Amino acid sequence: MTRVVAVDGTPAVPGVAYAPAIWASPRPEVDGRGPRIAETERDAEKSRFREAAAVVAARLKERGAVAGGVAAEVLSANAALAEDRGWLGAVDKLIGAGAPAIEAAVGATEQFTTLFTQMGGLMAERVTDLRDVRDRVVAEFAGLSEPGVPAPSHPSVLCAEDLAPADTAGLDPTRIVGIVTVLGGPTSHTAIIARQLGIPCVVAARDLDQVRSDQLVLLDGAAGTLVVDPDPDEARSAVQAATDEAARVAAWAGPGRTSDGAPISVLANVQDGAGARAAAETAAEGIGLFRTELCFLDRDTEPTVEEQAEIYGEVLEAFARHKVVIRTLDAGSDKPLRFVDHRSEANPALGVRGIRIAAQEPGILERQLDAIALAADRTGNRPSVMAPMVATVAEAASFADLVRARDLVPGAMIEVPAAALHADRLLRHVDFLSIGTNDLTQYTMAVDRMSSELAALTDPWQPAVLTLVATAADAGERSSKPVGVCGEAAADPLLACVLAGMGVTSLSCAAAAVSRVGAKLSATTKAACERAAEAALSADGPDGARSAALEALSGT
Ligand code: PEP
Ligand code: MG
Repeated sequence: MTRVVAVDGTPAVPGVAYAPAIWASPRPEVDGRGPRIAETERDAEKSRFREAAAVVAARLKERGAVAGGVAAEVLSANAALAEDRGWLGAVDKLIGAGAPAIEAAVGATEQFTTLFTQMGGLMAERVTDLRDVRDRVVAEFAGLSEPGVPAPSHPSVLCAEDLAPADTAGLDPTRIVGIVTVLGGPTSHTAIIARQLGIPCVVAARDLDQVRSDQLVLLDGAAGTLVVDPDPDEARSAVQAATDEAARVAAWAGPGRTSDGAPISVLANVQDGAGARAAAETAAEGIGLFRTELCFLDRDTEPTVEEQAEIYGEVLEAFARHKVVIRTLDAGSDKPLRFVDHRSEANPALGVRGIRIAAQEPGILERQLDAIALAADRTGNRPSVMAPMVATVAEAASFADLVRARDLVPGAMIEVPAAALHADRLLRHVDFLSIGTNDLTQYTMAVDRMSSELAALTDPWQPAVLTLVATAADAGERSSKPVGVCGEAAADPLLACVLAGMGVTSLSCAAAAVSRVGAKLSATTKAACERAAEAALSADGPDGARSAALEALSGT
C-alpha cells in the first residue's frame, strides 16, 4: 500500500489515534488601536482592565483546581501572569498616556515578550503563555467569548499552530484523542499537559498546514508522524496494537528488569513532596532525580536550612527505605533563582549555572547540603546527592568531599560532553553518575534545548549523544559503580531498551512514563537490548538509530 506521510514532527506523547482532524481556529489579530482616552476617563479604563484581568486569573485558577497535577501548576503560573504587577503596571502606564486598554495590553505584552525572548530557554516559552493571557483578558474586557479550542461532538485529532496551557488543560481526552502542533518542543507545556491527560501528541510538525479539517488522520505520538487518509484496516490495527500495549503497561507492577531477569531500576523524577507522593503510587522503585531548584523559583530570599529540610524530608518520607537521588540547585540559564546572584551574561546556558555557582557563592551549596543531611537524620533515609552541570574532575572531587563530610552518597550528573568523555575519572571521586540527556544533547549538538526550529537536532537519538552515553555507561561497568539516565530519554520505551543495552543501571523518568518504560523492558531480553544499542550506535542519524533499534528488537 502506498502511504502518504503528510507530516513529520517530533514525538511528544506516545500513543496512536485514528480520527478526523479538527483545526483550532487561529487567534484573532489583536491590535486595539483606537482613539485616545480622555484624561478624566483613564482611571476608569485602568480599573475596568484590572477587573477583566482578575476575572481571567480566577477562571484559570478554577480550571487548574479541576485539572489537578501538572496542569494545575501550569494554570496557576498563568493566573499569576494575569495578576503580574509588572505587566499590569505597564498597561496602566500606557493607559495613563492615553492609550485605550486593548492597545495598552498589546503594547505591554510586546515589551515583556521581547524581554522573555531575549532571555531564551524556559522564559522564551512563557511568551505563548503571556500572549494567551493577554488574549483572554482582552476578550473579557471587550465582552467577547473566551478564545480557545473547539469542542467537537466526536473523537478528533486536534491540529493547531500552538496551544496555550489553558487550552490544553481543558481538553476532554474522550473528544480530543490526539494533538499535533506546528510549534512547541517535547518539553513544552502543551506536551507536558498532553502527557498528563494521556493524549498522544506530536509537536514541531512544520508542514501541518497540508492537513484539512475533517480529513481522516492516523497520529503516532511515539513515531512523531501524522498520516492522512491511511488504509483504514491498517489504521485500526495500529490503534488496536496501541490499546493492547496500554493494557500491558497498566498491568506492569515492577521491579524493573528485562524479560530474562537482568535488573535495571525504573525510578521517577519529581520536583516536590506532592510529586513524590504521586510517584509513590506508581511502580517506581525510588526517585532518580529530585529537581530541588523547582521548589524555589518563586522565592526572593534563600530558604533557610530548616525550610529546605522540611521540603526534602517530604520527598524522603514518600520513598522511605527506597533510593532517593537529590540534585543540588541547578540554578541559572533557563531556571534563574532570585536569591542567587546571577550576573548578566551574554550566553547564560554556557555561563555560571549549576555547580559553577558554588565556586562563586559556596555558602548556598553548603547550606543546602546541611538541609539534606538534616532531612536524612529526621527521616532515617540516607539519600544520594548529585551535582548538576559538572564539567571537570576537580568539581566532582570537591563536591564529593562536601557530601561525604555529611555522611551522604555523592554523585555527579553527566550533562556536559567533557564529563561524559572523562566519566571514568569522575568515578574515581563519586559513587555514581546520572546522565542528564536533555542538557547533554543540548551541549553535544550545540542547540538550545527549547528551540522548536532545531528540534530535530535536540534529539537524544542523535548517535553522537548515544556515543557519549555509552562512554559513561562503560566507565560505570568498568568501575562497578551505578550509571543511570535521568533525562527525558529515559521516558522513551524504545530508547530505554537501547540504554539498558549500553549497560546503564537505572532509568528515571516522569512518573507518568514509569510503567510504559518498565513494561517495555519486561518484554525484552537483555541480549535484544544489547543488539538494539549496537544498532543505534552504528547509525548515522536519529531516524536511522530509531529504526535500527526497532528492527533489532522486532520479534523479541
Ligand atoms: C537533563 O539535563 O537531562 C536533566 C535531567 O536536567 P534538567 O532537565 O533539569 O536540566
Ligand atoms: Mg540538566
